[in-house]
Amino acid sequence: MTKTEGLALDGITIRLGGRRLIALDAQVGRGEVLTVMGPSGSGKSTLLAYIGGFLDPAFEAEGSVRIDGSDLTGLAAEDRHAGILFQDPLLFPHLDVAGNIAIAIPQHSGSRRDRRRMAEAALADAGLEGFGDADPDTLSGGQKARVALQRVLMSRPRLLLLDEPFSKLDAHLREQTRQMLFATARQAGLPVVLVTHDEADAAAANGRVHRVGDS
Ligand code: ADP
Ligand code: MG
Repeated sequence: MTKTEGLALDGITIRLGGRRLIALDAQVGRGEVLTVMGPSGSGKSTLLAYIGGFLDPAFEAEGSVRIDGSDLTGLAAEDRHAGILFQDPLLFPHLDVAGNIAIAIPQHSGSRRDRRRMAEAALADAGLEGFGDADPDTLSGGQKARVALQRVLMSRPRLLLLDEPFSKLDAHLREQTRQMLFATARQAGLPVVLVTHDEADAAAANGRVHRVGDS
């Protein structure tokens, strides 16, 4: 039997109160992006919750989630290793910028100081050298998005789930942030599921588009 590389979503169906929100079968190779397009309320965030393993029990759902051939469906969220980015970068206000990245580095990766150094190196990779000691509130929207991405990568995810992560950025930054995110995912060989209501996101993602709701 051949082992499928990347993310395989088979026979996913999600219902709420008997009404079907989502029906999806898809393969997302490493570095590829599957875009799920639909209006607000169509079930996009719900789909990501199912893939990530944190679906609210109010929903009825079935279907399998596999990564590189291994079945995640029965696993708890923390054992699935899905990296998630939301509309808001949600940086911890009580930690400095490097601290926000270091917190995602597994403790066995090194001493506190080693982890701090890894966080500083990740910041440099993201074009944010020297921002380690800064208060996250002083960063621009685009800079916060880059910190959130570095944090998620530090947790060594096996797949990336993006919940409208560009929708709060202005047009220029949105384009830049998209390119950076997709390039990073490609480089890291991560399958990506992007949910959005913005057609331009789908175009930039340059992959398969699955439509939900009445879009
Ligand atoms: P989208 O992300 O596409 O805007 P959601 O996945 O958030 O849509 O929501 C899909 C539907 O499920 C909506 O009708 C929403 O009101 C409902 N919903 C979302 N979360 C819950 C929940 N925890 N319990 C019950 N209904 C919910
Ligand atoms: Mg949503």
